Amino acid sequence: MSKLKTFYIKTYGCQMNHSDSERVVTVLIETGLKEAERMESADVIIFNTCSVRQSAEDRIFGLKKNIRELKTANSLRIMDYRLPITVITGCLCKRSWDDSIPKTAEDERKYIRTLKRRMPWADIILQIKDIQKLPELITGKLPYHTIKQPSNYLVIKPTYRSEFSAFIPISTGCDEFCTYCIVPKARGKQIDRPAKVIISEVKDLISKGYKDIFLLGQSVNSWKNPENKYPKTFTDLLKEIDSIEGNYWLSFLSSHPKHFGKKLIEYFASSVNAGLKAIRNNVPHSENDHIRPYLNLALQSGSDRILKKMNRRYSAKDFVEIVKSLRGKIPGLKLSTDIIVGFPRETANDFKETLELIRKVELDMAYINKYSSRTGTASSLMEDTVSWGKKGQRDKKANKVLEDSARKRNKENIGMTTRALITKFNKKEQTASGKTFNFKDIRIKLSPKAVVAAGEFVNVVVKSTSGWSLSGSIVKGNAPQMHI
Ligand code: SF4
Repeated sequence: MSKLKTFYIKTYGCQMNHSDSERVVTVLIETGLKEAERMESADVIIFNTCSVRQSAEDRIFGLKKNIRELKTANSLRIMDYRLPITVITGCLCKRSWDDSIPKTAEDERKYIRTLKRRMPWADIILQIKDIQKLPELITGKLPYHTIKQPSNYLVIKPTYRSEFSAFIPISTGCDEFCTYCIVPKARGKQIDRPAKVIISEVKDLISKGYKDIFLLGQSVNSWKNPENKYPKTFTDLLKEIDSIEGNYWLSFLSSHPKHFGKKLIEYFASSVNAGLKAIRNNVPHSENDHIRPYLNLALQSGSDRILKKMNRRYSAKDFVEIVKSLRGKIPGLKLSTDIIVGFPRETANDFKETLELIRKVELDMAYINKYSSRTGTASSLMEDTVSWGKKGQRDKKANKVLEDSARKRNKENIGMTTRALITKFNKKEQTASGKTFNFKDIRIKLSPKAVVAAGEFVNVVVKSTSGWSLSGSIVKGNAPQMHI
């Protein structure tokens, strides 16, 4: 190990991958390596990959030139590796590897060979669940299948990247099998973490002063306690975490409409409203009042015909009903969603229904993506009927409708006062960036000489909006008109 001193990690994709990277960092630090600030000065480079879209995979395959240059510039060798040792982990590695089928050494070699053909510059390719094998792989060059995996990788204590905000996976993998999605193949079946482990992690973070807790899952609200005892359901888990005393906020993502039942709606609204009351009274959050008025509820399409082809198992009406019910109870709720445009056989009329739905529910934010076929998914067997140009046009149109909706929603915040969490302080410009209780980005103009710290709660009055985000300034003392 003596020659290997530093590592650098580059993470692609969703929050789940970022959270996984925090565990990879722990493994490497415990191996004795230090984190380098730049890729160029690292002995080991880890790419935690995403394969949700073709463009995400292409970005990894396109690293060839950079890695070759780095290796050419470095004359050091460790065993067969020329430094820097490049490691590929994350979703790209699991695509063609089914854990339910027993493997031989030959299977393993075949699998690695397939990936190596695409990434000849990669020294080590391993699934994220096997990340505890990494120290032995970079030091001993042992065959992948011969190293015993000590335990479920989620037991590794993450090295949190922030001192006030933390992402906690409550499950990994997914059992939904939406026809376009590679995640069930890339991450495997859904594995839920036991409630007591999650709750203890949250308690620990809160005791250390963390202010912003995010529970993560591909379909977060389908979590069930594997120990089959209370808290059994996601709503139970949310209640238990929310009952932990402290001045912090709690969010969860991403939610599947199919699992968003009445009990969850009721509890979500009651906690948010208790939190708003605390903010109005200008007192810290305490118990059962931490949930942010923010929800990411994945829609994907406004057309029932397309939702069926996607195997989403809810209708556009179901989605609207959930939103209507929540907005009736929480008017300031920030609603974001995920939308795919140009799914196979999406007609102009199907797309029109998606646009109408965006207008109807008045989205605050959406992650709109052009459909791209992923080998190994059910939809990859469907004819990709919408041309790339047409997908581009639909993407543009949907973003325009979204922007109008977001601007309208943000304008409604002007003049209101709320609590915001500072995420960055810029002393030179006397400004700060933050997130409001309902998860909107806010730029705060500070008075001369005012000092704020990242991770601090402040009361702010919203003065304007640029469309996507808010601007405001700090208000002192009681702020009785707070209602977002
Ligand atoms: S819910 Fe559907 S889209 Fe989301 S990760 Fe699971 S299979 Fe993919």
